[in-house]
Amino acid sequence: MNPNPAGGDDRSFLAVDAARAAILGALAPIAGRERVAVRAALGRVLAEDVIAPCNVPAHDNSAMDGYAVRAADLTSAGESALAVVGTAFAGRPFSGMVGAGQAVRIMTGATIPQGADTIVVQEVARREHERVFIPAGQKKGQNLRHAGEDLAEGGVAIPAGKRCGPAELGLIASLGIAEVCVRRRLRVAVMSTGDEIASIGRPLGPGEVYDSNRYTLHGVLTRLGCELLDLGVVPDRPEALEEAFREASQAADVIITSGGVSVGEADFIREMMNRMGEVAFWKLAIKPGRPMAFGRIGDAVLFGLPGNPVAVMVTFYQFVQDALLQLMGVAPLPAPERFPVRAAFSMRKQPGRVEYLRGRLQRGGDGLAVAPAGAQGSGVLSSMSEADCFVVLPADCSAVQEGDTVLVQPFHGIV
Ligand code: AMP
Ligand code: MG
Repeated sequence: MNPNPAGGDDRSFLAVDAARAAILGALAPIAGRERVAVRAALGRVLAEDVIAPCNVPAHDNSAMDGYAVRAADLTSAGESALAVVGTAFAGRPFSGMVGAGQAVRIMTGATIPQGADTIVVQEVARREHERVFIPAGQKKGQNLRHAGEDLAEGGVAIPAGKRCGPAELGLIASLGIAEVCVRRRLRVAVMSTGDEIASIGRPLGPGEVYDSNRYTLHGVLTRLGCELLDLGVVPDRPEALEEAFREASQAADVIITSGGVSVGEADFIREMMNRMGEVAFWKLAIKPGRPMAFGRIGDAVLFGLPGNPVAVMVTFYQFVQDALLQLMGVAPLPAPERFPVRAAFSMRKQPGRVEYLRGRLQRGGDGLAVAPAGAQGSGVLSSMSEADCFVVLPADCSAVQEGDTVLVQPFHGIV
């Protein structure tokens, strides 16, 4: 793998798209797979196509409550009178034949009786004892659900690479399938680095901060369905780091660290990553989240995220999440969701870096607009909690004027 599209010069700035492409280009899905029961497939990625063993629905059936009739019996002028010869219920078909001049009372989901080709909804039919009067204007074949209309026997009902949500669980069950083949869960080791980082459960010493990154990472990784290996807070000490990296690279598919990758700061973390594996240190052209490491230690893929809590979340969502989905076997990867809205704010911006503001969407009289949510410092995690989207300002942007159109990336499904 070539983790360094900047050409080996780790001082040049790397564009967002180049970094994403380098990461995604270097990673292939994990090989392991297992069979799981339908309910346990929620959030899992199908390792094989699900082939329909039968048609869904299995039979032509009625989409409405009404009467099953023969279109040829209906006149185009005025009412047609038909003899009602029986009833078809869902699960209890009418076993006879609908002959000329006849109709069968039919319920939603009931199999279409032989001879009938059209369903007339009960609201327009006029019933008198054993006869029913059908007004003009019916269309042949109306209100029928055809066998195989949802899923056709022998066809691919759900393709490999699909991550199963509620609809997929229902679809699998609708085919009568009890188990599916999914990729094994991705194992991800997480560690925070820094002498100043304290774990919760004890008072803070002078200059210390509580570790929040491992908790936000726990949240996003759990939502993605990863198996977590929590290596805790690792102090800025070479032996401790080496031990943690060794353990992580043996047990996990992916290692995610936070802190210690910026230039000047704790250089031995970079040195350690380099010595133990093949790692590139990028200066990304983004704000927040400039430094990031990417590469391998042993067989494990390494993402060395910056330390600032907002930068961790921004770099995770812009680079790591899709990489993990790709490793999990998700294909095709969903395109990042972006849409244009009106800016309800003005600001100046340094050109050169893509900026991810934390924003809040507002619905007003003149449509959707967006404003920054809270203070925008890269350590201000409350801005992520208050926000419901990123406002993505491109590298060449130098200012936003109120009323301009800006792109937002909504949080739903990510945060
Ligand atoms: P670093 O990238 O190690 O220089 O860290 C940048 C900033 O993020 C520093 O202010 C750190 O104290 C802070 N930081 C690093 N790791 C964490 C963490 N796990 N939780 C909260 N803050 C952190
Ligand atoms: Mg640090």
